[in-house]
Amino acid sequence: MHSESAGWDEDSSDPDKSRSLKEFRSAGRGFWADVSDQDWNDWRWQLKHRITTVEHLNRFLPTLTPEEHAGAVLANQKLALAITPYFFNLIDPADENCPIRWQVIPRIEETHTAAWEMADPCGEDSHSPVPGLVHRYPDRVLFLVTDRCAAYCRYCTRSRLVSNATGYDFHPDFDRQIEYIEKTKTIRDVLLSGGDPLLFTDEKLEYLLTRLRAIPHVEFLRIGTRIPVFLPQRITPGLCAMLRKFHPLFISIHSNHPRELTTEVRDALGRLADAGIPLGNQSVLLRHVNDDPAIMRAQVQKLLMCRVKPYYIYQCDLISGSAHLRASVRAGLQIMESLRGHTTGYAVPQYVIDAPGGGGKVPVNPEYVLSHNRDRVVLRNFEGKIFEYPEAADGTPLAPRPAAIEEPELA
Ligand code: SF4
Repeated sequence: MHSESAGWDEDSSDPDKSRSLKEFRSAGRGFWADVSDQDWNDWRWQLKHRITTVEHLNRFLPTLTPEEHAGAVLANQKLALAITPYFFNLIDPADENCPIRWQVIPRIEETHTAAWEMADPCGEDSHSPVPGLVHRYPDRVLFLVTDRCAAYCRYCTRSRLVSNATGYDFHPDFDRQIEYIEKTKTIRDVLLSGGDPLLFTDEKLEYLLTRLRAIPHVEFLRIGTRIPVFLPQRITPGLCAMLRKFHPLFISIHSNHPRELTTEVRDALGRLADAGIPLGNQSVLLRHVNDDPAIMRAQVQKLLMCRVKPYYIYQCDLISGSAHLRASVRAGLQIMESLRGHTTGYAVPQYVIDAPGGGGKVPVNPEYVLSHNRDRVVLRNFEGKIFEYPEAADGTPLAPRPAAIEEPELA
């Protein structure tokens, strides 16, 4: 009954199995084999037929565990349950630990909140001069355009507002948001996000992009979206033709596991790339999903095959109820160590932690500079070999290491 996507082999330490992760496969039709091609390929049909209730879920996934069942019953009080039929077909019903399952099926652990977890871990609301506009860094803003997504990620940093399950009641006022950008001449870069901006109709999105493009000091536009992964049917030739009018326009997609990169997704990304849109990917480091060097290596290499530059690996934010999905920083560093030097430089993303409470993104890297003084830099390469580079005459270290580091006061 399930789609031809079943049969993925997750033991990625084996080179053959790792090759299997990099194969492009269709998500197939699964339970929807009787649906016409026209409906299946229609993004509105996909949205209308999303799985949104525990009854739906039980019907399509009879192997639901007690933790998943209890989570699905309570989901609509925290972050709505929604999965497109297309994306649902990537779930392996025989595998409780399926990495797709962990990302979109609610679990009861989401109701457990650890002491250090927060509703707004990146301090977005406290950096919003106008509701729905986050101005944290001097020359760029995050423009939240909607609270809706095609499907909901259980670790979403913005779960306080997306899907409106907690009654946040997000209603962006585009006029006020755009007015702030117009009068703040230091803003040269606007990132449209949400929720997912590509859920808008072409006309509504074109209206917003036109208004932003008309602001002389806005040099650069970006869209953050998970639609190419959850709903590749939305990436129509018409959408691509509209977007290409607004260059320079970049798109950041969000994909976490190589199994998400299907033939449908590869083709959708190809259409965006053919429209001249540079593509980057953001992955969130997640336990049970991608906290494994071999899986992440397959993921970044497969992204390059889809014409997407792996841009960031995010340490999972301290969002309430996400402890069961958070991988350790140690795991993230091991992944970075396994990529740098071991695969194409273009495939190596930047690993970052969004400093809790609103400190912004902090790059986190394995240590390659072992010491640095006025005369020399001692380096370690990807094989662990040590090298010395003679420092130039003006090479006083920018920030010499302090003799002692005081315990910081935690924010
Ligand atoms: S697509 Fe993005 S905004 Fe929507 S639920 Fe997932 S992480 Fe959150």
